[in-house]
Amino acid sequence: MSWDERQRAMLAEMGYRLPVALDATPEPEAAEPEPIVVAAPPPPVMRVAVPAPAPVVAPPPARPASAPVEPALATNFAGLDLPALREAVASCRGCGLCEQRRHAVFGQGALQQAQWLVVTDPPDESEDASGESQPGDAGRLLVRMLHAAGQRRAGDAATAFVTPLVKCRPPRGRAPQPAELEACEAVLARQVALLQPRVVLAMGLQAARRLTGTTEPLGRLRGRVHEWRGLPVVVTFAPGYLLRSAADKAGAWDDLRLALSVLHDS
Ligand code: SF4
Repeated sequence: MSWDERQRAMLAEMGYRLPVALDATPEPEAAEPEPIVVAAPPPPVMRVAVPAPAPVVAPPPARPASAPVEPALATNFAGLDLPALREAVASCRGCGLCEQRRHAVFGQGALQQAQWLVVTDPPDESEDASGESQPGDAGRLLVRMLHAAGQRRAGDAATAFVTPLVKCRPPRGRAPQPAELEACEAVLARQVALLQPRVVLAMGLQAARRLTGTTEPLGRLRGRVHEWRGLPVVVTFAPGYLLRSAADKAGAWDDLRLALSVLHDS
């Protein structure tokens, strides 16, 4: 596809009704990782001395067999390759978000190196239920946007990787807390180390704010190149938002063009 055709395709996707048929081939579903059972540690033994003449040893405090397992903080992802990292995330207990998730959402896309790393907002209900990043209509729109920019999320020739900012859905869709963001950034950092993207596209307010280190509105973060961990970051709207607000698709196309210019200049 030539550049002009790509541009026409994206514009058509934005609702400009150009006569270009976009490739909307559904992507293969990601295999659900095997769960890992975490064993509870043995109960502590405590001895209590009683004065003479008859010393008595108190029995150790009993621990209920069903005691909940505390989240294991400081999970170490260093040294894991992409499949091992995906498996580790599926059973991760690195922060409290593990308690209520149905599935951790690792992301999908390039199997080795990626030109684009697309970081989306934390998983919504459909992502939590399926374990897939951006399923449904929002995902189809994202695939078409990437395709219009010359990127692919699926197949052996995939050049982009799409992953949420944190991998587990916060309860009732609340924003992740600082400690949760901090804990899960270790996963994102490992994904970056393995995929070595040349540009990061932050889609959505929460992803944009975290990767730019600000609390500014999305509108003020768009239209310029930020930096996160030495990588150029471009901010745009969340795919789900664009489904509801077609008027902003033209702005999203401007953002993709900015990301493309960063890619071509690097
Ligand atoms: S949000 Fe991230 S750090 Fe927290 S449990 Fe899920 S994968 Fe682990």
